Amino acid sequence: MFASTVVSRLAESNRVYLDNNASTAVDERVLSSVFEVYRDGPANSGSAHAVGQRAKSRVDDARERVAALVGARPREVVFTSGATEANNLAIKGIAAACAPGRRHVVTCETEHAAILGPVRKLERDGFRVSIVGALPSGQVDLDALTRAVGPDTALVSVMAVNNETGVLNPIRTVADVAHSMGASYHCDATQWLAWGPIDVEDLGIDLLSLSGHKIHGPQGVGALFVSRRLRDSLVPVVDGGGQETGLRSGTVNVAGTVGLGVAAAILIEEGAEASARVTALRQHFEAEVRAGVPTARINGSRAERAPGTTNLCFPAADAELVMTLMPDVIVSTGSACSSSIPEPSHVLLAMGLTREEAMQSLRVSLSRNTTAEDVAYGAARITQVVRNVQSRAGTAVAELVQ
Ligand code: PMP
Repeated sequence: MFASTVVSRLAESNRVYLDNNASTAVDERVLSSVFEVYRDGPANSGSAHAVGQRAKSRVDDARERVAALVGARPREVVFTSGATEANNLAIKGIAAACAPGRRHVVTCETEHAAILGPVRKLERDGFRVSIVGALPSGQVDLDALTRAVGPDTALVSVMAVNNETGVLNPIRTVADVAHSMGASYHCDATQWLAWGPIDVEDLGIDLLSLSGHKIHGPQGVGALFVSRRLRDSLVPVVDGGGQETGLRSGTVNVAGTVGLGVAAAILIEEGAEASARVTALRQHFEAEVRAGVPTARINGSRAERAPGTTNLCFPAADAELVMTLMPDVIVSTGSACSSSIPEPSHVLLAMGLTREEAMQSLRVSLSRNTTAEDVAYGAARITQVVRNVQSRAGTAVAELVQ
């Protein structure tokens, strides 16, 4: 019965998808809402006529839903093209607004490129930048962070959940450190919100980035929460027609924002249940793989982690080779955005792994759609392929790939 489920699933799709940190499936309810907008015909939410106003009211509803997901007010939500743009707006927007005595930004080595990129740009523009290290657990080094933040710091940006390891950072403490010196706190929550609602006020978050396609919403849409305290001073990155109350010019992606709103509403209702279920699935997966490959180590296992992510190091098994030998199980090495470059993950290196260990690490990420069958199949295949590679260490790659 179980085996036949696996077989039929594979016959349909030919693979099991365990790379949800790269992108999640669009929820059917989101899909219907997006179709509905497109089916209703053309509409620009900036137009004054009835058709435009109807689109505007749809965008407003979506703004309310996204605000509710993070405990914000609708006015505090700025729609963007995704988390990369939201991160750029937060970092560059605060930097451009800060007083001459506050030209300093602090972040962590384990951040996504969508944070490290804009921060390095600021550095080239003459800002002082501190990129603090991580602990072996994968969490930001709070002592180093506390030493780095000073009276000249404008912004501290530390992610909630790491996209490669799933490790959760102590963000309430990070916010307190930032605020103790009068700096603002930005949180890249892209990988966190798939697991349910949060409250920006309770957590001391001044700016927060999120992305549609990581929470079963559409690609190409996201949002930046900007607290009302910062709203009027934030400097836009994209100038033009003044949409999104001047903070993000450009015709609003009406269908995308509507879909994002539906994705947010679903998470408010169903996130907690999914979170508990996926945590159990992930723990089962880890137990299976470790039983099959006793030398496997979980990167970040000492910290609390998000439900769906596990990052495993398999000694003597090159992760790229394992992936090549296992096209029926979709996983990843490093982060998707840089995985075309065979370089070790900067996150794993920051946690103290050697280059070799980092190259032997695989990221497996589950979503609320992942089934027990997916997990059983994935664990069995990974175990089989890793053991094969480990037992034939030293064999020419060409021979293994045949
Ligand atoms: N931040 C994190 C932590 C991410 O995982 C990603 C996506 N890989 C991004 C930012 C970029 O998000 P987007 O694809 O929406 O630009």
